[in-house]
Amino acid sequence: PARPADVKGVRPPAPEPQPTIPRVKLVLLGDSGVGKSCLVLRYVRRQFDPQSQVTVGAAFMSHSVHLPDGSTVKFEIWDTAGQERYASLAPLYYRGAAAAAIVYDITNPDSFQKAKHWVGELKKNAGDNIVIVLVGNKSDLVENRVISIEDGEELASQHSMLFAETSAKTAAGVSTVFELIAQKFASPAASGPA
Ligand code: GDP
Repeated sequence: PARPADVKGVRPPAPEPQPTIPRVKLVLLGDSGVGKSCLVLRYVRRQFDPQSQVTVGAAFMSHSVHLPDGSTVKFEIWDTAGQERYASLAPLYYRGAAAAAIVYDITNPDSFQKAKHWVGELKKNAGDNIVIVLVGNKSDLVENRVISIEDGEELASQHSMLFAETSAKTAAGVSTVFELIAQKFASPAASGPA
């Protein structure tokens, strides 16, 4: 049987040029219990489940970020799937990662110390060009705060990281994390190359 292109006089329409949407592999790092999975669930599914034992999984979740300037960035968000209990993560986890979120819990000083360890791990495994955002999570737990915003900002600036505080519980700051990173990769069609 004739395919459409073989039929006399019939030509398939020329494809419209599509703007290329940047695809960014984003890896999550940080101690167990700081709220990595909850942050992703809050962002991607707009929900918070305090009982959640869910880890996003060995694979990843895809999610597109639409910025106010009209540009879009598609994230592949990788969660550790519990691997953070070991000193290092598998090389496959870092492979191809262009961005990372290092998460600590503002009520847990150990998790803040461990954030410094994860910066080193990341630079060793993913190179110096990776875009990193340092995230102080659980900002709703005001009474239990141990790590100040200034502490977080200082660590971030020492290692050229972006910085945000979040609450996966209330959603405060969560979309900021993803937008800060997306802005680094966006190439708005309307305004040309950045
Ligand atoms: P992960 O091990 O880093 O993936 O941490 P989880 O996402 O599993 O969260 C660990 C615990 O912290 C869970 O009991 C969550 O309910 C709780 N949690 C996560 N984010 C927040 C937050 O922003 N505020 C509060 N109050 N609890 C949170």
